[in-house]
Amino acid sequence: MGSYFVTNGEHKTKQDMIISYSLKRSRRKTIAIKVLDGKVQVTAPMRASKDLIEQFVFSKSGWIHEVLEKTHKEKSRFEELIQQHYCLLEGDLIEIDFESGIRTKFKNGVLWIDKKYFGDRQGIFLQIAKAYKKRASVDLINRCKEVAAKFDFACGDIGLTNAKKKWGSCDSKGNIRLNFRLLMLRPLLQEYVIIHELCHILEHNHSAKFWEKVALFCPGYKQLKKELKGYSLLNTIY
Ligand SMILES: [Zn+2]
Repeated sequence: MGSYFVTNGEHKTKQDMIISYSLKRSRRKTIAIKVLDGKVQVTAPMRASKDLIEQFVFSKSGWIHEVLEKTHKEKSRFEELIQQHYCLLEGDLIEIDFESGIRTKFKNGVLWIDKKYFGDRQGIFLQIAKAYKKRASVDLINRCKEVAAKFDFACGDIGLTNAKKKWGSCDSKGNIRLNFRLLMLRPLLQEYVIIHELCHILEHNHSAKFWEKVALFCPGYKQLKKELKGYSLLNTIY
């Protein structure tokens, strides 16, 4: 525990690009920078001078720009989802259409939503999430059961989670939780996450031994793991 206060700073880099950041003071001993969702957050010791902080931000400006640029690229990639023209299902773009009195559902390659939500961005996002959750509660859970049976994993309860930071989790009793948003991704990616979590039944860590097991059941996991990282932004949309 420590008291802290937040101020805002700006740093001009050599190329005259401005890095805006929020500054949080804490009892930590070193300065740290985090770039999350397009925002730069600096945490510094209570006594660190503004000059020292500026210098530190400057020394990391190349990296900061790289991360910001990447987020920007990802955002434009998902622009169609943000604009609510489409949603993703099993890796495919699905058109969103409206009809009066219809119950939200996927039908014939279209996600149908009641016309009363038209123009209500928040309402539409909630309807899309609802449609995902409903389908995931059957399809995603069944897929996990199938993979567990195929590779002979004795897993506990399988359920869904709303957690935005993780695609899945496995507790010490072997209960698996899968992020319902996994349904948006192509089946191979879903399978990688499922295998990853199932392997945690055997190894509750990310040791070399754990990754050996993952490789055994999912030989192409390295590429899939990398691809999955490119989708983390999906968790901030819905
Ligand atoms: Zn893990």
